[in-house]
Amino acid sequence: MMDVTAIKRTHLERFKETPRVFTSPGRVNLIGEHTDYAEGFVMPAAIDFSTQAAISCRDDRQVAIYSANFTEQVIHDLDAMPERGSHHWSDYPLGVVHMLRLAGIDVPGFSMSIEGNVPLGAGLSSSASIEVAVALAVLSAAGTTLPPPEVARLCQRAENSYVGASTGIMDQFIACCGAEDHALLLDCRSLSYRLAPIPSNISLVICNTMVKHSHAGGEYNTRRAEVEEGTAILRSHRPEVRVLRDATPEDLERWGHEMPPNVLKRCRHIITDSLRAIATADALEAHDLKKLGELLAAAHASYRDDFEASCPEADIMVDLAVRDPHCYGARLTGGGFGGCTVNLVETSAAEAFSEKIAADYRAATGIQPDIYRCRASAAAHEVL
Ligand code: ADP
Ligand code: MG
Repeated sequence: MMDVTAIKRTHLERFKETPRVFTSPGRVNLIGEHTDYAEGFVMPAAIDFSTQAAISCRDDRQVAIYSANFTEQVIHDLDAMPERGSHHWSDYPLGVVHMLRLAGIDVPGFSMSIEGNVPLGAGLSSSASIEVAVALAVLSAAGTTLPPPEVARLCQRAENSYVGASTGIMDQFIACCGAEDHALLLDCRSLSYRLAPIPSNISLVICNTMVKHSHAGGEYNTRRAEVEEGTAILRSHRPEVRVLRDATPEDLERWGHEMPPNVLKRCRHIITDSLRAIATADALEAHDLKKLGELLAAAHASYRDDFEASCPEADIMVDLAVRDPHCYGARLTGGGFGGCTVNLVETSAAEAFSEKIAADYRAATGIQPDIYRCRASAAAHEVL
């Protein structure tokens, strides 16, 4: 948890007003990769890296926003706000203001200071974290609130239509609805969810491979097309299969032979990973750590072999992790082709685990990884 006295002081010095402060977490996805656009299940957890937004009202119609991370301030007139993003960090807060106003919220002039310790662009969703912190802050300045899932949707719209990044709702949803020491099983179709307890002696250790293979964008589009192709084949037999959420492993057994081998593999990953997400929530509820480890191992193998979205560095990081007797499970998390692995590690051994895996990974790859030791944390809220 970040210390909020610093941001309060920054805000007071800069804007001469005592602010209210809101905090919103980053996140890691435990299981369910590329299942979101198939309307399947994902299971992220909020982490104790977060972004704070401090806000005070102004008596003019200006919106001044300072980011301590960028040591930069932007200022706009409420009556002449930019209608879309300009590839600047302020797109994120301004996009949220834009969407709040479109939703009918009467946003007053305000001063805001933002500071976060979620590493930017590392795949821990600093973007959703800043959006949700800003949304809660601006709602408070407007003297109102919205239900957390609506805040999530609104922030997703800001990221999709204002910033211009096409992302699912997972990141904003977990920031709004996560809970301490819990993961959240989210049905990406209905947005219904349930919290699954993470044992309090388990840490989420996130290992950044520090690689992001540049072909990721092209591969992503190929995967989407392959999934679409496979879905269409299933649909030709069962018209009710609109997306892979509607298909079962039995459907694949029956009609998979009509698909090119890669198409079959991509579909199998999505259908089984979605089911594994549900099974992982069940395993957490049953405190079955052995089952949890098996599910994470199966998920990594499926991501590597069927979806072919892993990379040598991530495979090395996972192989090193699962050798450690204090690690209950590990897999590549996020969009693939690099990024971070997520590791469930006995808390008393987490520090030693982190040091060892960093040294072993460096020895194997020549790359110094960043390691983040996290706990599953609470949703966005005001810090009093
Ligand atoms: P990720 O969500 O994986 O961290 P993104 O590219 O989606 O990566 O979002 C990162 C961007 O979000 C940053 O480049 C910046 O524009 C914006 N951002 C996140 N946190 C802050 C912050 N504290 N201050 C200003 N901008 C931020
Ligand atoms: Mg992001």
